Amino acid sequence: MNFISTRGGCPAVSFSDAVAQGLAPDGGLYLPETLPAIDAATLKKWEKLDYAALCEEFFALFADLPRAQLSAIVKSAYTRFDVPEIAPMKKLDEKTFVLELFHGPTLAFKDFALQLLGGLYEAQIKRTGRAINVLGATSGDTGAAAIHGLLGREGVRIFILYPDGRVSPLQERQMTCTGAANVYPLAIPGTFDDAQAALKDVFNDRAFKGQFNLSAINSINIARVLAQCVYYFFAYFRLPEAARANVEFVVPTGNFGNVLAGWMAARMGLPAKSFCVATNQNDILFRFFSTGVYELGPVKPSHAPSMDIQVASNFERFLYYVMQEDAAATKAAMEDFKKHGRFVMPGFKAGEYQFRASRADDADIVRLIKTVHEKSGYVADPHTACGFADLGPAKTSVVLSTAHPAKFPDVIASAIGDEVKSPALEKLKALPIVKHKIPAEKAAIEDFIRSSCR
Ligand SMILES: *Cc1c(COP(=O)(O)O)cnc(C)c1O
Repeated sequence: MNFISTRGGCPAVSFSDAVAQGLAPDGGLYLPETLPAIDAATLKKWEKLDYAALCEEFFALFADLPRAQLSAIVKSAYTRFDVPEIAPMKKLDEKTFVLELFHGPTLAFKDFALQLLGGLYEAQIKRTGRAINVLGATSGDTGAAAIHGLLGREGVRIFILYPDGRVSPLQERQMTCTGAANVYPLAIPGTFDDAQAALKDVFNDRAFKGQFNLSAINSINIARVLAQCVYYFFAYFRLPEAARANVEFVVPTGNFGNVLAGWMAARMGLPAKSFCVATNQNDILFRFFSTGVYELGPVKPSHAPSMDIQVASNFERFLYYVMQEDAAATKAAMEDFKKHGRFVMPGFKAGEYQFRASRADDADIVRLIKTVHEKSGYVADPHTACGFADLGPAKTSVVLSTAHPAKFPDVIASAIGDEVKSPALEKLKALPIVKHKIPAEKAAIEDFIRSSCR
């Protein structure tokens, strides 16, 4: 399977090349040239597979790696999870299920993609003999998950930009207390969007990108989106037969990577009825899916910091599909949005494209953690709590739980008056923090990378 850019300005490339490049050279995002059709017979075959085996079958549809190598990478990616199911499904009541995606090394769903991506990078370095420098921007969880996916891997340095003081103290510790020599946490003033904008500027500097063999690990990397497709299938197979007819996946959303993966899985054949895009008070996507207007607002720090995002990078992939895979129209829409901070979807109708949206502000988050806990005894983290804002009563809801509640002890305590702890996080508190403060500017970032590579 080859991969093409959403902006149509560069040739199709192999899976390995798309993974290595991250962002396409024309500024677009890679997507499979065609989506495979996963039919009922295939679903039947996949139904009983364990997580790693399912992931291997799924990636075999896309990857250009020898099967034995793919198998080894996938198996090792899911060895550092703390439960044998990898993605356990919890039943809250007849209509409500929670898919727990926080059993990886950093206790957030991003481990699913980044443990795998670490293995893919290592394979690439072995193949080319060329070291790579990974550069990413994070609102908290991506950085931690990326760092833990690449920690100790040979031939990789990892530079992670994050907004200083705007990630949770425990998230910061996960990034800065690793003691690993190949890890460079870069604390910048401003918001995640500032970090992401600076990151894009560095990646658009082709000469620099080439010289330092820069690679992206943000949710723009297609391997991450594909890795996230897998657990939607896995979850579907764990639902009771009777609950499968009218399934809505409810996905706490920031950069639109997680929910896009589910939607793409549905385009391939996953029998999901709909997706609920659950935002916090940074609600650009809630507003888009309610009105068809995609319009920037200011970022307001919230209790669910990994969703404190206004520009959702993966939105471009969605646009490409709903614009009938018209790369020129996608490019024009993205350029228009970049210029005006606003884009209006022609002919939009709410509820279209299998998507609807919900929104939770900070007061809602606290209230939802409390009521979910009272009703079912379940403790949802502040991101997951957004998923409970507006469950469709006629549907089977599968709420994706994106982080372990122990990552956000203050909000949890204020909601349920109790503490939730994780032994892995407790250990981190005794370790020293190592971070580098730099401006969110292309020149400063490039200088830092240059001097670290000497
Ligand atoms: C990253 C993250 C999200 C948002 O996921 P997107 O793919 O950016 O939409 C939600 N919750 C948690 C805990 C996260 O780390």
